[in-house]
Amino acid sequence: MLGRPEHEKRVTPVLTRLGFSAFFADQLVGASPDIIPARVVGQHRREWDVSCERGTARAVLAGKHWAQEHVAQVDDAQPTVGDWVGVRWSEPGPPIIEILLKRRTSLSRTSASRRGARQTLVANVDHVAVVAAFAAADKHDAVAKRSLHPRRIERYVTAIEKGGAEPIVLLNKADLATDALETAELLQARLKTCRVVCTSCKQEEGLDPLLALFRPGTTIGLVGLSGVGKSSLVNRILGRDAQKVGEERAADARGRHTTTHRELFLTESGLLLIDTPGMREFAVADGTEEDLKSFDDIIQLAKNCQFRDCKHKNEPGCAVRAAVRSGKLVSDRLESYVTLASELKETAVQPAVKRIGRPKRQKYPKRNDRSDWDED
Ligand code: GDP
Ligand code: ZN
Repeated sequence: MLGRPEHEKRVTPVLTRLGFSAFFADQLVGASPDIIPARVVGQHRREWDVSCERGTARAVLAGKHWAQEHVAQVDDAQPTVGDWVGVRWSEPGPPIIEILLKRRTSLSRTSASRRGARQTLVANVDHVAVVAAFAAADKHDAVAKRSLHPRRIERYVTAIEKGGAEPIVLLNKADLATDALETAELLQARLKTCRVVCTSCKQEEGLDPLLALFRPGTTIGLVGLSGVGKSSLVNRILGRDAQKVGEERAADARGRHTTTHRELFLTESGLLLIDTPGMREFAVADGTEEDLKSFDDIIQLAKNCQFRDCKHKNEPGCAVRAAVRSGKLVSDRLESYVTLASELKETAVQPAVKRIGRPKRQKYPKRNDRSDWDED
């Protein structure tokens, strides 16, 4: 192995299968040799399941991290599923997470009611699938209806692109709808650059072509409302019942707090899947208008607006409104853009307020308890 840099030696087949690469190995150059790379594959309240060369185990965060106020208070300074960490693991004790490696990509959300709070849902994902579902024609299914709302999907797509991952939209339960393909085509025409795919877990349709889109070793996150079929998709792709689906979960509700919130699964074909719980509230975290690149059609139109800072509301000479009037642009898509643009501005991270005097030490982290984020 002479001549190979130290960090390259760390990229072993086991780690590569978990998605490890030089990007992460480089960050461990100079770290103590007894710190080994591991991927966070499960998240519990204050513990994390990590997988590494030596297997999988429940890990804890190094004590000094808890004392650091910013780590204790900021959700995204804590490990999340998909993260790469440096652990110290001297058995029989649990692995201790010493270092949180810089993320290649991530998906974060913020909450309108919890201003400034930010939660990183998944880290180091190559793709994130926004899962929506069709409803049976004779059933009133509010969740399905909500999940298919283009503006809702655009919100996710914006957040995913902002975090550096590639979005894909899955319209699941296609077996229930007679117009699934037409709906998908309409949405595809609106979203333009983001691929829209129909799937059915029930009839196992659309899954093979979907999986053919991903290279082995890539990490795919699944997001969407509860009930759209994320767990079913994970089970189908894995070929085993790894995740409880709707009814089983309801029957098991009492045990909920013992189960992990998020989990990473390795498929036989070498894909890494991260399921996330459904979320009622999802606002894009601290972006800028530049993060709205999925709205390039509007951005291009806006270049012809009379005013450079045109909000496309009722300014004179607005080229975007003109496009809506002439039928070139769907007005709902413009609404979506305007809403997201103002939301990005509102949730932009404010520069930290400098503290005077010594930082207060905190015994227990306040924000680490993620249970107060609405997840269903
Ligand atoms: P999750 O909350 O997003 O993880 O959704 P689940 O996977 O728990 O699925 C919710 C319900 O939808 C369950 O009753 C599933 O059996 C059902 N379901 C999932 N996928 C499909 C599908 O493709 N077609 C139909 N008809 N039902 C499905
Ligand atoms: Zn305008």
